[in-house]
Amino acid sequence: MNIYDILRRKRLGLNLSYQEIDFIVKGYYYGNIPDYQMSAFLTSTVIHGMNEEEIFAFTKAMIDTGVVVDYKDIQGIKVDKHSTGGVGDSVSIIVVPLLCCLGYKVPKLSGRSLGHTGGTIDKMESIPNLRTGLTLDHMMESLKSVGGFISQPLNLAPADKKIYALRDVTANVDSIPLIASSIMSKKIAANADVIILDVKVGNGAFMRDYQQALELSNAMISIAQKFGKKCAAIITDMNQPLNNHIGNYLEIISSIDFLKGNYNKYSRLKEVCFSVISLIHCLANNIEYSEKVKEEVYQLVEKLINTGEAIEKFRQIIQNQGGQANIIDDPYSYFGPKIEYEYKSPSNGFVHFDTYLLGLASGELGLSRKTIEDKVDNNAGIILNVEAGQYVNEGQTIMKLYAKDSKSLEKALEITQKALIFSEQPIKTNTIYCVVGGK
Ligand code: URA
Repeated sequence: MNIYDILRRKRLGLNLSYQEIDFIVKGYYYGNIPDYQMSAFLTSTVIHGMNEEEIFAFTKAMIDTGVVVDYKDIQGIKVDKHSTGGVGDSVSIIVVPLLCCLGYKVPKLSGRSLGHTGGTIDKMESIPNLRTGLTLDHMMESLKSVGGFISQPLNLAPADKKIYALRDVTANVDSIPLIASSIMSKKIAANADVIILDVKVGNGAFMRDYQQALELSNAMISIAQKFGKKCAAIITDMNQPLNNHIGNYLEIISSIDFLKGNYNKYSRLKEVCFSVISLIHCLANNIEYSEKVKEEVYQLVEKLINTGEAIEKFRQIIQNQGGQANIIDDPYSYFGPKIEYEYKSPSNGFVHFDTYLLGLASGELGLSRKTIEDKVDNNAGIILNVEAGQYVNEGQTIMKLYAKDSKSLEKALEITQKALIFSEQPIKTNTIYCVVGGK
């Protein structure tokens, strides 16, 4: 195969064959195709897109470079969920124990914080002593004994990591076929039977508009189905944080509170968590997703929480990963922020948030890494005292900021000022825009 000819045809907008895509991806991963040729391919792809066969070939080739998890000894339906990245998004931490209680097997492989968005692994690691680098044996044992775990990924689709790094520095991230195949290569390699995608849209998300989010959802569902997976997506709003707690340990505190029965306090988070569970339940059992089924699942989930089963399951998950499980009984006793600051409203009006900026501010407070070796401050973060769209008076506390030091607080305050939007009329807020492929 001739790489020059392949690149020329892709640049002209012609479709490539399965073998040609496979040749490029593997050639690049194994070092036979240099960065400059892969960059040319990626740029042409961003411009011309890919057809369904090309997307499939691209995803498959990336999967082939790593392991595909094998659950041969694990009985039951394996389920997975993925979020495209949000602020205050603790959905995984809440739904994993609930899904285990419902009898599903939940091998949750999660990532670290990326840019302004939080990462489930960083949040779980804020639990004292908890390990997230589980071995494959420990993972399988956890599925048998507890029902689930939350761990760092294995060597899944490693070509994606190399290609993503190149996309990042060559301005080639923004492409629906590339994003869809990148996300799905890892999900397919994780090999659950049912996959639910939480696709965020809005100023705190990758996808800034609804149409793009819908296109991305359809592209990912189509990939999953080609690999024989049941898959659906919910498109959720990121124009405001999902949770009033933003931060690693702060989100553990609110997840514990939620699972202990105070879920109505977190109405938007509740809607997303319960919808994810309802969708998984429908796909796993071949039931059409409807308001009626959703209502039944909501009742079931509320019961699991109200009887204490859900929080006990979370305790087991923590214990199984070596964590300090008594944080469940008194989570605040482990919360020791270095600096606290009450942010008061500078004016009267209906308040809204720029979620992207709030994510950046929480990063400055101590949650973000400049390099992979940087340590985060797990106690850093923000608690919002008001909901988006609420009327506030001048001087009223809008939020509390928790910082690792005074310099970080200063930087975060500068960003926070810009993150607040005041209006004379409330702006309509959303939680879930729609469900895609709920059959
Ligand atoms: N997340 C991924 O894993 N890949 C992308 O391309 C974008 C977001």
